[in-house]
Amino acid sequence: KAERVYNFSAGPSMLPLEVMEQAAEQLTNYGGCGMSVMEMSHRSSEFEEILHSAEKNLRDIMNIPDHYKVLFIQGGATLQFSMIPMNLLRNSKKADYIVTGAWAKKAAEEAKKFGDIKIVASSEESVFSYIPEVKKEEFREDADYVHITMNNTIYGTKFPYIPDTGEIPLVADFSSCILSETVDVSKFALIYAGAQKNIGPAGVVIVIIREDLIGHASADIPVYLDYKIHADNESMYNTPPTFGIYMAGEVFKNIVRLGGVPALEKINREKAKKLYDYIDQSALYSCPVVPKDRSLMNVVFVTGNTDLDKKFTKEAKAAGLHNLGGHRSIGGMRASIYNAMPMEGVDTLIEFMKKFEAENK
Ligand code: PMP
Repeated sequence: KAERVYNFSAGPSMLPLEVMEQAAEQLTNYGGCGMSVMEMSHRSSEFEEILHSAEKNLRDIMNIPDHYKVLFIQGGATLQFSMIPMNLLRNSKKADYIVTGAWAKKAAEEAKKFGDIKIVASSEESVFSYIPEVKKEEFREDADYVHITMNNTIYGTKFPYIPDTGEIPLVADFSSCILSETVDVSKFALIYAGAQKNIGPAGVVIVIIREDLIGHASADIPVYLDYKIHADNESMYNTPPTFGIYMAGEVFKNIVRLGGVPALEKINREKAKKLYDYIDQSALYSCPVVPKDRSLMNVVFVTGNTDLDKKFTKEAKAAGLHNLGGHRSIGGMRASIYNAMPMEGVDTLIEFMKKFEAENK
């Protein structure tokens, strides 16, 4: 068996080894029931228990208030770009978007198919290197919701603040930062996140939605796209992504064992600080993001020379540090250091960066 590498992929990305090893042990015979979770009816008592405990553990580790539903849906975060406007444009049909990256822009573009969408602020003019500060007065008073992307996976930024939208429901894409630091769920009306970064394998998206926002979709909405259908049927209207939900549930249990989200946040802050501190003092590397808006999860950096960036990524891979290339749209480098990336991975990366810097002065 080949050695495992440090995988800095932006997603799908590293998962906790202990969770995968346990899943491997249970792969063909889950809990002595004689079959794999993959082979099990989603209506079986075993699977119902898996689903319920996944939801319960997520509620505990995120402190999700009782008046929010937790839904396990398919279609990735991308389907949420459509489901959100289809379900939440319920009165004025207006929604305000803050555009802080490519995913935020895609979310806004999709929403434009369904209503009157206003981009209230954007940092595109500076290649999304910062997060605009938006005040309450800048949102349209009658907007049905405001949408933000909490962490921008490609550009390596995150909101350092939660916009004050007053009475307007705040919707946030947490795909690349869910469970990385504590969050006050009650400040949001809807939080969604694709699983494939901090939660589990691709194929599951988690939607945490305030109950009053459920049930407003028009009557002709496709059945799968209506939050009410998923809520009324406890994510079991149709066959849910059973194995992905099982893996997510095991990751949640592991987070409980590790001391909850505050314990992860502490390590995540240390990992990110080490890497940014090293980059900031280096003569070769630089980070294009303003310090106050830097992501804890996706650390973006460049050498300023695209050929050297490519050489870096290639040599890093040969040294066991995989997937350090930046997103195909911007190049450069990106180290995604989600919850499952151990401190040793970051230390090993910094050692490699030092060596590469010395060799490429
Ligand atoms: N939002 C963010 C912040 C993302 O990082 C991604 C994917 N990396 C998406 C949305 C799209 O997610 P999916 O591929 O699950 O549709």
